[in-house]
Amino acid sequence: MIAEDTIAAISTPYGTGGIGIIRISGDRAFEIAKTIFKGKKNFDEIKSHTINYGKIIDPVKNETIDEVLVTKMKKPNTFTREDVVEINCHGGIVVLKKILDLVLRQGARAAEPGEFTKRAFLNGRIDLSQAEAVIDIINSKTEESSKAAVNQLEGKLSSKIKALRRRLIEILAHIEAVVDYPEEDIEEITGEKVYNEIKDIKENLKKITDNFERGRILREGIDAVIVGRPNVGKSSLLNELTGKNRAIVTDIPGTTRDIIEEYININDIPVRIVDTAGIRETEDAVEIIGVEKTHKALEEAELVIMMVDAEKGFTPEDSAILEKVANKKLIILINKIDKSNEENIKNIEKNLEGMNYIRTSIREEIGIDKIGKMITKLFTKGEINLNSQIILTNIRHKNLIDKAILSIDDAMGAYENKMPLDLMTIDITNAADFLGQITGESVKEDVINEIFSRFCLGK
Ligand code: GDP
Ligand code: ZN
Repeated sequence: MIAEDTIAAISTPYGTGGIGIIRISGDRAFEIAKTIFKGKKNFDEIKSHTINYGKIIDPVKNETIDEVLVTKMKKPNTFTREDVVEINCHGGIVVLKKILDLVLRQGARAAEPGEFTKRAFLNGRIDLSQAEAVIDIINSKTEESSKAAVNQLEGKLSSKIKALRRRLIEILAHIEAVVDYPEEDIEEITGEKVYNEIKDIKENLKKITDNFERGRILREGIDAVIVGRPNVGKSSLLNELTGKNRAIVTDIPGTTRDIIEEYININDIPVRIVDTAGIRETEDAVEIIGVEKTHKALEEAELVIMMVDAEKGFTPEDSAILEKVANKKLIILINKIDKSNEENIKNIEKNLEGMNYIRTSIREEIGIDKIGKMITKLFTKGEINLNSQIILTNIRHKNLIDKAILSIDDAMGAYENKMPLDLMTIDITNAADFLGQITGESVKEDVINEIFSRFCLGK
C-alpha cells in the first residue's frame, strides 16, 4: 500500500527538553524542504542520511525562523520507507509550530496521530507489535522503561510470539495431515504428545504475561502519595527525591485538570507523586487532614508513603491516618531518627508490627535508598531485570495472550476428558489465531485502525 500525500508533524524526542523535530514523510518531502531550507549546500546536493546545518526561511516574507539541523533521508532506508526530512530546531514549541505551519503551507498535510508509524507498518518496515512499541517509547517515563520498549521494538516479543505460534501451527498441520491423509506414511501424533507440547507452550506464554505487571509499572509508573502529620518531613522527602532523582516533570494542562504530576525515578521505577495545585500552593506535598483534593489523590493512589516522627513518637493522629490508608500498599518511614533514640524508635515500631517500615533521616540522608528497594519488592516479584527478559507492556497483547492461554486450557481439558484429537484442534486454532493478532499475521483492518488512532501525533 502506497500513500500518496506527504505528511508532517512535530515529533519531540522523549527525554529531552527544548529540542524538537519536524518530521516530513512522503514523495514531496525533499521538494518542500528545498523551498524553506538555506544551508551551505543547495538541498538537492545534500547527500542522503547526513545532518546539515542551515536556516529555515519563510520564502514569502523572506524571514529567518530558526537555525536548524536538517537530515535528509532517501527511501527506502527510512522509518516510513518513504523520503523523509527531519528538521531539528532548538527554539521551543513556538518556533516548532511556525516551521510546521510553513511546511504545511508548502504542501504537506498534517499527520494524523500515529500516521508515521502506520506508514512504516503498511510499507512493511515493522510488524504490528513493533508499531505498538513506539507508543510505549513515547509514553515511557524513565530511561529503563524506554529500554523495555526498545527491546520490544527490536522484535523480541514478536519473535517469541511468532515462534510459539509456529509450534501451534505445526501441531495443527501434523494432526490435519494424519487425519486427512491416512494412506500417507506420516508419523502418528498422539493426544499425549499434543498435550505435552501445548502445555509447554502455555507455560512459555504464562512467563510472558507474568512480566506484564512489571511492564505496566515501568511504563506508566506508580501513583503515590506522601502522608503524615504536619512537620513530619513530607516536603523534605519530596524535595530529596525530586531533587536528586528527578526523571521528568510534566505538567499537562487540560488533560488532568489542575493536577501536577512529578515523576521520580526510584530504582528505575517511575513513581508519580500526584500533587494537586491547591496543595502545591501551600508548598506541601500532601497534608492528609482536611484537604479534599488530597482525599481524592489518596483514593487513587496505589502506594502510600506514610511518615511518622521518630522524635514525637506514635500519636493518636498517626493511628487515625494509618486507619485511612490501611487498604493500600504502604511504606512507613520513621523519620528524624537523628533526633530520636533507640527506645523511642522501638516503641513506634511496636505499633507497626507486620507492616513495611524504614528508619529514615531525610536531614542526614539515612535510609532513603531503602525506599526504592521496598517499592520494588512491593510491586514486583523480585528484581526487575530488563536485559534478560521480554517485558510485556501492552494491554492488548496481554489480553490476547490470556485468550490464547484459555484456549490452550480448553484443548488440554478436551484431552483430559478423553475427547477425540480433532476436537483439540479447534481450541489450538483459536490459540494460534489470538497470537497471530499480536504480530499482525491475521489482523483485520479495523483492529489496525484502532491501534494507530491511539498513537501520538508525529510518531
Ligand atoms: P512537612 O510539614 O511534613 O512537609 O515537613 P517538612 O518537610 O516541611 O519538615 C519540617 C521540618 O522538619 C523542617 O525544618 C525539616 O528540615 C525538618 N526535617 C525533615 N526531615 C528531618 C530529619 O530527618 N531530621 C531532622 N532533624 N529534621 C528533619
Ligand atoms: Zn510540608
